[in-house]
Amino acid sequence: MEKPNIILLGAPGSGKGTRAVVLSEVLGVPQIATGDLFRKNLKLMTEIGKVAKGYIDRGELVPDEVTAAMLRQRLEEPDAQNGFILDGFPRSVNQAKILDGLLAQKGAKINSVIYIKVDDEEIVKRLSGRMICSKCQAPYHKIDNKPKREGVCDKCGGELVVRDDDNPDTIRKRLKVFHETTFPLVELYPKSGILSEIKSEKSANGLKFDMAELSRRLGFIK
Ligand code: AMP
Repeated sequence: MEKPNIILLGAPGSGKGTRAVVLSEVLGVPQIATGDLFRKNLKLMTEIGKVAKGYIDRGELVPDEVTAAMLRQRLEEPDAQNGFILDGFPRSVNQAKILDGLLAQKGAKINSVIYIKVDDEEIVKRLSGRMICSKCQAPYHKIDNKPKREGVCDKCGGELVVRDDDNPDTIRKRLKVFHETTFPLVELYPKSGILSEIKSEKSANGLKFDMAELSRRLGFIK
């Protein structure tokens, strides 16, 4: 069976992170979210964090050299050698080329791209209720995905916070960046026959069931 080298594509707030966490559990490979990596760097005030801050606050993309260097390092870690789920990278056609180059050096390639389709209206609604764990970055929602104890992460007990860039102005900017720069990838990947489109809706079966079904359909588990 092939190692799952997966990209999750979708607008901010499409439910990428939530699905990536569940897929990661189902497949036993790490979720690699460039946004989470940046937020860790911001918290620790590293050089990468200092460079990235202005871009993130404005809802713009951090320059490719910075993002790609950070990703290259993460892909070298031992847990990423048996597959990975990329969440938030690539976000442009140029980043897709960079990724192909990084993987080719390791004799690997992307074998599945999952696009989560959601309307903008729904996204704005969702992002306004989003919270994340300040410690482990697990995603929550004030209405759709409440923690067991208010304000506390179910997984690690960390404090739940609203992201600085989840404000109406930055949300609008991030959606514009998605449509202009990231969406062309949804038109690029079908050419290689590895794109699957899924809807970001609550299902009666639950997310774990759905992600296991999808993983089976894609041939990553039996
Ligand atoms: P996210 O958590 O994926 O919504 O990302 C939050 C912010 O981090 C984005 O609005 C960008 O400023 C930055 N970021 C995350 N991933 C990338 C990427 N692949 N390229 C450039 N900037 C990124």
